[in-house]
Amino acid sequence: MNKIIIAIDGYSSCGKSTMAKELANALGYIYVDTGAMYRCVTLYAIENGMFSGKSLDSDALEQRIDEIKISFCRDELSGKVLAVLNGRNVEKEIRSMSVSERVSNVAKQPYVRQRLVEQQQAMGRKKGIVMDGRDIGTTVFPDAELKIFVTASPEVRAQRRYLELLEKEGRADYEEILSNVKERDYIDSHRSVSPLKMANDAILLDNSNMSLDQQREWLIDKAKEVISLS
Ligand code: C5P
Repeated sequence: MNKIIIAIDGYSSCGKSTMAKELANALGYIYVDTGAMYRCVTLYAIENGMFSGKSLDSDALEQRIDEIKISFCRDELSGKVLAVLNGRNVEKEIRSMSVSERVSNVAKQPYVRQRLVEQQQAMGRKKGIVMDGRDIGTTVFPDAELKIFVTASPEVRAQRRYLELLEKEGRADYEEILSNVKERDYIDSHRSVSPLKMANDAILLDNSNMSLDQQREWLIDKAKEVISLS
């Protein structure tokens, strides 16, 4: 059977990663979380003193961009995919509020996007891939056979992220998360290079009132339908 490219884009914290991961597992496809790649670059910038508060020293980051090596590995015990930055597992650190608050300012830098988009395109050369992000259907794979654009209200997304952080870190602040979700939506949709927007040929999925099971079923049916026609 032919393998295709599936692009899942949308706003932050709307469950894209969970959906994309499950779909990739169901189809036996590779899954790539491109947000994790932008988060790794951000962590590198933080750890190397390139931020003063939330303000990025972009020249310093551009000079050292070649030192940043990002890869993914699978945790033997849990089976989860982990982000690796310069040989170190950073899966936990890249999900922190400190990274979330700074990542959109890193992701809007044209040299960062160019670098990461090239790597993402190389990962999809053989197809059989589910990639989630903000610009996958518009910039990384404009010819993807299936494009989904996911959205939900900011409040629903903040509540989901709040529960996730509470479980992982034992504490979370809903108002802080809601304002971060709204701020990232704004920066992501207004940046000059490949802003977050729905591709003309994408299918819109508003999952505000859908259960995870309903989403999973909807998406797998949709993917199988497109694969059978391609
Ligand atoms: O998906 P996630 O919320 O982890 O992404 C973190 C941030 O990375 C986004 O808010 C956005 O600024 C950036 N991003 C992007 N393009 C992508 C994936 C993520 O600009 N393809």
